[in-house]
This record gives sequence, C-alpha cells and structure tokens, in this order.
Amino acid sequence: MPEVVTRDPATGRELGRYPAHDEAAVEQALAETAAAAPGWAATPLGERLALLRTVGKLLTERRDEYAALITAEMGKPLAESLAEIDKCAWNCSVVADLAPEWLADRPVSASAAQSWISYEPLGVIFAVMPWNFPFWQVLRFACAALAAGNTALLKHSPDVTGCALAIEELFESLQPGLFRALVIDAGRVADVSRRIILDPRIAAVTLTGSERAGAAVAEAAGTACKKTVLELGGSDPFVVLADASISAAADAAARSRFGNAGQSCVAAKRFIVVEEVADEFVAALLASLETTQIGPLARADLRDNAIRQIEETVAAGARLLTGGRPVDGPGYFLEPAVLDHVTPGMAAFTEETFGPVAAVVRARDDDHAVALANDTDFGLGCSVWGATGHALAVGRRIRSGALFVNAPVASDPRLPFGGIGRSGHGRELSAEGVREFTNLRTVAVA
Ligand code: NAP
Repeated sequence: MPEVVTRDPATGRELGRYPAHDEAAVEQALAETAAAAPGWAATPLGERLALLRTVGKLLTERRDEYAALITAEMGKPLAESLAEIDKCAWNCSVVADLAPEWLADRPVSASAAQSWISYEPLGVIFAVMPWNFPFWQVLRFACAALAAGNTALLKHSPDVTGCALAIEELFESLQPGLFRALVIDAGRVADVSRRIILDPRIAAVTLTGSERAGAAVAEAAGTACKKTVLELGGSDPFVVLADASISAAADAAARSRFGNAGQSCVAAKRFIVVEEVADEFVAALLASLETTQIGPLARADLRDNAIRQIEETVAAGARLLTGGRPVDGPGYFLEPAVLDHVTPGMAAFTEETFGPVAAVVRARDDDHAVALANDTDFGLGCSVWGATGHALAVGRRIRSGALFVNAPVASDPRLPFGGIGRSGHGRELSAEGVREFTNLRTVAVA
C-alpha cells in the first residue's frame, strides 16, 4: 500500500509512516465536505465564528504539542513554532471579531429602490498547501473559508502530514465534515489534485507554493472555469536608501532573511542598497548574523538547491562574504550566506532563494534602486528603508502586493496579503481574503 514518510530535518531520521488515501478514502473526504456544506452555509454567522473562537482556544491550550510537531516535521526552532501557533490563534480571534463587518451586506445607491452586495458561501474550497508554515498557511485559509460559510478539503505537503492530520482532528472534534485532510503519495499528487479540481462538488481552489504547482492547479481550475487564489513565490526587494538607519535596517534584514531558515515567501531576498551606505550596511548585516540562530532546511533537495544558487552566483562574479556551506553532521543545516555585488542575471537575483541566502545588490542611486527592485517577474512584498517621505516615494515606484516602510514585510490578519505577477493573484487575510471565498452577489429590489 502506498505510504507517505515524514523525516526530521535536524537528523534526517524517519519520523512517521502514513498510509496514503486510496480512491475510496479521497471520495469519502470529498463527499463528507460536500454533504456538510449546505448546513454550514445555513448556520448563522455568529455560530460559525464561535467555532473559530473554540479553534483558537484549543490551539492555545495545545500550543506545546503542536509546536513540537512543527519543529519535528519541518525543522524550525521551537520558539518560531510556538510563535506560529500563537499567530494562528490570534487569526482565529481577529476573524471572529471582524468577520461580521467583513461579511455584512454592503448597500450601494443605484437605479433600484434598494440595492446591495451580499457575500454568500461558495461550497467546498480545495486547498493545496506547503510545508514552510504548516499550521499558519492552513489556518489562515481555513478561518477565511469557514467564516464565509464554506467547507474545506486540504491537500497538505507530505513533509508535514502529522500537522495536516492534527489540524483535521482539531476541526473534526468540533464538527465533522467541515474540514478534511487528504494524504496523497508523491506519484499521484498531480492526477488526484486535477480530478478533485474538476469534480463538480468543488467550488474554488487556493494554493500556496511554487509557480510550478500553482500553474498546474490553475490550469485544471481554468479547464473547469473555477476561481483560484494563488500565493506563489517571491524575490522581495529590501531597499536601503542613503538616509536610512543602517543598524535598524540591518537587524530587520537579518530577521527577515534568516527567520524560518529563509524559507518564507515574504522574506527579504534581494538587499538593494545605495552605494554610499552599502559597506556600512554589509558590515552591520554580518554583525547581526553572529547572533542569528537558525534551524535546518526542511529537506535535503532544498539545501542542494540553495547551494547550487550560491555556487552559480559566485561563478558569475558575486562575492561570498560568509557561510554557504553545509554543516557537517546529520540533518539539512546550511551556514547562513551573504553574497555581495550580486547583479541582474545571477541566480540569487533572478531565481527565488528559499533558504538562508542574502543577496546584496549595490545601486548607484534611487532611480537605479527602483529599476533593480522592479527587475523581477515576482511581485509579493517590498520593504524600503529611509526617511519616511523619501522611502514612501521610492516604494510607490516599486511593483508589489505590499509595501512596508522602515519595517520588514510581514502578514497581519487585518491586512490583505498576496502578490502580483508570478507571485500569484487574489488575497488572503482581512476582509479581502474572506471575501475571496464568497459569491459576491448583487441584489436589487425595485
Ligand atoms: P511545491 O512543490 O509547490 O509544493 C507546495 C504544495 O503544492 C505541496 O502540497 C505539493 O504537494 C503541491 N503540488 C505540487 N505539484 C502539484 C500539482 N501538480 N498539483 C497539485 N498540487 C501540487 O513547493 P516545494 O517543492 O515544497 O517548495 C519548492 C518551492 O516552492 C520553494 O523554493 C518556493 O519557491 C516555493 N514555496 C513557496 C511558498 C510560499 O509561501 N509562497 C511556500 C513553500 C514553497 P507535493 O509536495 O506532494 O508535490
């Protein structure tokens, strides 16, 4: 029988074996979420949100257990896993507090005597999720989908199957059928996902992950004329202007780049620094690195890919100032790397670096910094450092789904999150994220 095997990235040792769902089990999960959908859609909003509050309370009560599971399966330090669970619980309470306002009918003055927009449930939402924030990625989608009156079917990354099943158990213990998780072995992912997306019982699809996976899912959704929300990769610019506080910028740069071992879509990836402060910034970044603690990468192939990107970038003329070597011993540890004099066309500039690899790019002036920041097909976040008005003016010229001035890019349940270009489309979190999973319905009464 096909199985999914999970491994501890800190040691490479096997953690668990899970039987993959066969056709009948996939059908059962789909049928259960479809059967639960009409009843959940008809449940008053207050009751739906009460369930999310309970989810948040249980996450807090079980934070040690769930955080240990995250650390075991994907390797981030325990403190980061605890913070991830706490953020999920926070999201539950923010959605529970604000969804009544986000989902309320919105009156519009038009020709009819009365007209308004209502936000109505769609049905079953199919979610494909990655391993890097195994609880956060799922909970941020699930809270929005369930608050809006939908049910949810999850295909999580096999690397975090224990997390997927723990989240399923949490929802199933409160109300069966609202949230089911699938366990799909590697060889069948594309086929099974495609069939699920084409199934008439699925209303819409959301994916967080690579462009490759996003394109496959969007292609199937396109064939079936179904809505998609895609949260794909990024190569976020972190722009440091001449009037920036260099020590604050370098501290934030290290946290943004090396948190989660660099495996975050909105991590700062290209540090675009105007020449007159570049040496000072690089020295401060190297100093910040001395106190940075990071876990292993989640899989051996992810470390191999980061090392390939570093080697190709150096071969193309960049300077490796520190790190970049695998750490001797078990597990998938990689010494945090800082590359300087990176230029367009090099791997660390053009590709997304999904590991502890900082690429410093030197800009002649503000115009050059803007041109470098925009020289990418991605468009997720963007962070600009400098005197506020100056940084804001420069930031407005850079294309991205989010602009943070004198702060690193971060998600907040009250603010929309998402990208443009090859970083995807649609938004998660906030009113916009909850409304993505609704039928935005026009009602007019003569
Ligand atoms: P990935 O392959 O895109 O995996 C993400 C999810 O998509 C997993 O559940 C994966 O399942 C699934 N998937 C892959 N191909 C699919 C298909 N044809 N149909 C349906 N589902 C499919 O990501 P990864 O390999 O784990 O990481 C590689 C890259 O993904 C990273 O370098 C980064 O660029 C990007 N990434 C981005 C984010 C983000 O937050 N935006 C998060 C993680 C990764 P299987 O694993 O079973 O194939």
